[in-house]
Amino acid sequence: MIIDAHCHIWDKTLITDDLRDMLNIYARQLNIDPSLIIDVSVDQLIKDMDEAGIDKTVLLSLDYDLILKGNLNYKQYNDYVANIVKEYPDRFIGFMGIDLRREKAIEEVERCVNKLGFRGVKLWPVTGFFPNDSKFYPFYERVEEMELPILCHTGVSPPRTYLEYNRPVYIDKVAVDFPKLKIIMAHMGDPWYTEAIATTAKNPNVYMDISMWQCEFKWLPALLYQTLFMAKQACGAHKILFGSDWPIYTTLASLKEWVNVIKKMKIPFALKLMGISKFTDAEKKQILGENAKKILGL
Ligand SMILES: [Zn+2]
Repeated sequence: MIIDAHCHIWDKTLITDDLRDMLNIYARQLNIDPSLIIDVSVDQLIKDMDEAGIDKTVLLSLDYDLILKGNLNYKQYNDYVANIVKEYPDRFIGFMGIDLRREKAIEEVERCVNKLGFRGVKLWPVTGFFPNDSKFYPFYERVEEMELPILCHTGVSPPRTYLEYNRPVYIDKVAVDFPKLKIIMAHMGDPWYTEAIATTAKNPNVYMDISMWQCEFKWLPALLYQTLFMAKQACGAHKILFGSDWPIYTTLASLKEWVNVIKKMKIPFALKLMGISKFTDAEKKQILGENAKKILGL
């Protein structure tokens, strides 16, 4: 089974002026047509998943209206994602989005899980909070109790968001203090991947997804294979999850190409000489789906 652990969805009604602005700047940075990441649809996503052989995708809701102002309300975004999951229960798994500074964060998680069927939590500290702040501990306590995995952004973030909250090491204290809480660090913390690997290697409950590394695949493939290899050696293949960040980074490598990076693993000859070897079929299977399956309790 192939599972994409990191994917986004929105439509015209959800895109505020601020978000559109952000996506436009983002598109210019990636040197792509903005409509590729703005005008997206569930039909297109399912088509891309089918082409890539992806069975299930984790759809992440986002709570960004404390930073990207507009007509959007975070509860509406959670409702929106829940409706898509409800329509395609075999293909999608929903993670609710919440900004931990919200007074009713716990209440919203409970609503999302009990009423809307969400299976996890997406945190996006780029809006301006440190995930290891002890005032959020009651939230983590509740989420641990509810056995919900958390997928937390780490690494570089889009224009109009803050960088300083995104260091992978901020996950360490939460992971130590809540040992039963499963935390997936998005993007292998790129560009702080050594910090992400250190945090993942030392904490049995921390994992990483490989989304956004399509940039390295496209621009500096040696770094991609080298980092994947380092992550596997230091943390074990059971700690690495396939993720795409559709529709953003799939503009650099299609979903199918990205799956094939793991499936076929065509390591450049020079790297082979440096001692970097292919992953075993069992390790590839773990990364492509088995790890996510376990974390999601499927
Ligand atoms: Zn993302």
